[in-house]
Amino acid sequence: MADNIIFGGFPLDPADHLRGDDRWVFEKINHSDSRFLLYAQGCPLMDISDGLAPVFKSVVKVKAITGDDWGQTDWVFLGLDGDVATFAVAISGKYDLPADEKFIDLRSVALQISAGGFSTIPSLLGRGKMLLEWHGRRHFCSCCGHKTKGARGGYLRQCANEACAAEHFPRTDPVVIMLVTDGDRCLLGRGKGWPEGNYSTLAGFMEPGETIEEATRREVLEEVGVKVGNVTYIRSQPWPFPSSLMIGVRAEALTTEITLDTNELVDALWMDKEKLQNLFETGGDNSFRIPPKIAIARHLLEEWLQHG
Ligand SMILES: [Zn+2]
Repeated sequence: MADNIIFGGFPLDPADHLRGDDRWVFEKINHSDSRFLLYAQGCPLMDISDGLAPVFKSVVKVKAITGDDWGQTDWVFLGLDGDVATFAVAISGKYDLPADEKFIDLRSVALQISAGGFSTIPSLLGRGKMLLEWHGRRHFCSCCGHKTKGARGGYLRQCANEACAAEHFPRTDPVVIMLVTDGDRCLLGRGKGWPEGNYSTLAGFMEPGETIEEATRREVLEEVGVKVGNVTYIRSQPWPFPSSLMIGVRAEALTTEITLDTNELVDALWMDKEKLQNLFETGGDNSFRIPPKIAIARHLLEEWLQHG
């Protein structure tokens, strides 16, 4: 199976063996060839003049935008393309932008870009978003309350209080997302607040101490009262909203009666494979919209339809 999931396929060399060297990072961040992706409130700066493309700025242009705030600005080294370094920078406040540059929500960037086929741009932009938002939430040490500062090219925040010196690392929250099957039927649900007709596979955050299999069985039992036996890993997807790893699995139902957890779901149903195949072929309708291409749920359903 091609590893072509949106938000996967990171296109740069993260160069872990180099980013721990502060002097090397300092040289790269001041190098005229280095490229900077800008973000405001998690939205990447995009060139909208011809379709959508990320804007890469030089360090001179970034510093012109941040001005005296540069020293306080969160930034992350994303990786190398040959010798050229790419950084992600979070900017705040008011700034004058050219008419053809705009900060755009990453979800809509990914939807638009993936409409034209697989691209590694959502992965590049997603990693920058995840790391910068993590920095934004970790300016103070969760152990002692003192200020923290970025290190290792942005892959670490260190407590500035020498007596504490705690090290904080970026985190990823694992989510299990499962296609529950009963022979030629699969289980789909509609979450609270979702538009009418939007159905997807069930999903939930893993709890500390759980295996993927245990988390899958617990979630399905909690949300729809269905007992699940065999669990098989299918594929995964980084999900930068805010910073998750979606772990896609197939789960075989042992029971089929649905008891809805109305705190989570407004509906759940068993869908025949043939009907689902028809909906995929016709593009769905108002009573059932197929999950978007950027969602791993879509991949789980397609994989089931194609390979059984
Ligand atoms: Zn501390």
